[in-house]
Amino acid sequence: MSSENKRRSFIKGIGLGSALLGSIQYGLNASEESKKKKPHYAMLFDQNKCVGCSDCEIACAKVNHVPKGQHRLYVEDQTNPNDLKFKKYMRVSCQQCVDSPCTEVCPTKACHKDSITNIVTMNTDDCIGCKYCIVACPYDVRFINEETNAAENCNFCLNTNFKEGKEPGCVAACKYDALVFGDLNDEESYINKILAVKDAARLKPGFGTKPSLRYIPKLKTGVYDE
Ligand code: SF4
Ligand code: SF4
Ligand code: SF4
Repeated sequence: MSSENKRRSFIKGIGLGSALLGSIQYGLNASEESKKKKPHYAMLFDQNKCVGCSDCEIACAKVNHVPKGQHRLYVEDQTNPNDLKFKKYMRVSCQQCVDSPCTEVCPTKACHKDSITNIVTMNTDDCIGCKYCIVACPYDVRFINEETNAAENCNFCLNTNFKEGKEPGCVAACKYDALVFGDLNDEESYINKILAVKDAARLKPGFGTKPSLRYIPKLKTGVYDE
């Protein structure tokens, strides 16, 4: 599927026909929304496709106004120095845990799950900077934004691109189709179609937080024998 078709599929998946409709749809009240099945948004990172270009990091910072030197997302070079031909990169960001300790410990509920999308996000104005959420996160992906003095995490661009009916900035920026975003509770979503045929893993499932990010691990390429 081309990037454009993928994008259309995502938009269909979240029930948005246009950017304008996206704003209206997002504004549905909780009771209307609860009649539908709650979404479970997730992201898939394919290590075999990532070339480590950092375009996703740059787009994330721009879309979400992340201060220079801070990151909601970064791409780590995990290449073994003894095997430089086998390049390997890893996306590091909030795992959007279903059982999220960050939201559990927040005394002001600044860190919470959005009532419509279920995405772990922030009410920046309510954050008192206590850092409980940062300590509670086993994936070490939260930080205090130097400009807002509030804690922050990747929220799939909930307050920016998502509201406008667009894909997260990182997904839109990736020229190599290494990132896919969608609703796991939508059987027709593109992310579900891929997960049906590809082996994907969660990072450190032993933490018990049920992370929503999925990773397709890097495979050594072989030689076709046919
Ligand atoms: S933009 Fe895509 S290819 Fe580039 S580092 Fe990010 S995920 Fe990897
Ligand atoms: S990865 Fe950390 S910040 Fe993200 S939902 Fe899980 S516990 Fe919260
Ligand atoms: S730093 Fe902010 S978001 Fe985190 S637990 Fe404290 S008040 Fe909640």
